[in-house]
Amino acid sequence: MRPWEKYIRQVDPYVPGEQPKLSNMIKLNTNENPYPPASEVQKAMQKVDVPALRMYPDPTSEDLVNALADTYHVNADQVFVGVGSDDVLGMAFLTFFGSSKPILFPDITYSFYDVWAKLYKIPYETPALDENFCIKKEDYYAENGGVVIANPNAPTSICENLDFIEDILQHNQDVVVIVDEAYIDFGGESAISLVEKYENLLVVQTFSKSRSMAGMRIGFAIGNSRLIKALNDVKYAYNSYTMSRLALQTGVASLKDVAYFEETCNKIITTRERVKKKMKDLGFSFPDSKTNFLFATHESVPAKELFLALREQNIFVRYFEKPRIDNYLRITIGTDEEMDCFLNFLESYLA
Ligand SMILES: *Cc1c(COP(=O)(O)O)cnc(C)c1O
Repeated sequence: MRPWEKYIRQVDPYVPGEQPKLSNMIKLNTNENPYPPASEVQKAMQKVDVPALRMYPDPTSEDLVNALADTYHVNADQVFVGVGSDDVLGMAFLTFFGSSKPILFPDITYSFYDVWAKLYKIPYETPALDENFCIKKEDYYAENGGVVIANPNAPTSICENLDFIEDILQHNQDVVVIVDEAYIDFGGESAISLVEKYENLLVVQTFSKSRSMAGMRIGFAIGNSRLIKALNDVKYAYNSYTMSRLALQTGVASLKDVAYFEETCNKIITTRERVKKKMKDLGFSFPDSKTNFLFATHESVPAKELFLALREQNIFVRYFEKPRIDNYLRITIGTDEEMDCFLNFLESYLA
């Protein structure tokens, strides 16, 4: 070990899904949207003022913040934006979780939460989901330094209703409660309607899944203006220019086309319900997904075997070699054509 190496911060990094560089693959492994962004985004790209790129972007991201405030019927001072919701969530952990009491999130959930907790030296506990992968709300009645709930949860795909979220808020009024709604547009009910009533609630969403813009990196949070100010103070203490000119312009453009957004979400939901039926017939079981993916296990063939067999065919799904979930596959809902290829292969493989 070099002398300077002992001063290096030791971290266990988050492991993102593979992004293979293959032209003929079916990519169902990172919950991307199979449909392109709204056509307004293409138009905004064509109108990009390239000479203006010599100048820094607007540090306040005013246009995007205003467009989000209009879309979600809140005030501009209730909106924070970041480089994907990972940036927003990471910033929120850094901003809100300074207690010496542990923050709480489920044992099976988005695997970035424990990475941030360790990175920022935030104590945490992970109450176990029940045997059906449901969150036990009583686990969150204990004293804590903050709560993080992904709703719908990932990778389980299970969505809780607003009464459930409100119950957790009722029992946690002295700490910040973060609700990560990365998948809420695929059939869940958003907790944004609760931010007026609970000043300690921060709802986080992303353009990466339902708005088909994972490659542009746009995420946002909605909450009480005091929470948003605290987030902005930390942002300006870290990196003032998080959002590029391109992200700001295309983000605003994307929000304009409400019809396209609803149409693509509905298409994915329709495909999902069709795939559920077929997979049941093939011997799979899974929770009732309200997301753009299924979390499925097969009655006789191990998940790892299926994962590898699919991979041979250039069909990529996600497999987590982790306790409790190592016999499950997380399968993103693609287009109908992609899902037919996937199902046809399974049908012949399992025959
Ligand atoms: C995808 C995802 C995110 C992060 O997405 P970004 O691309 O960074 O916006 C956050 N939380 C959950 C639960 C996710 O699945």
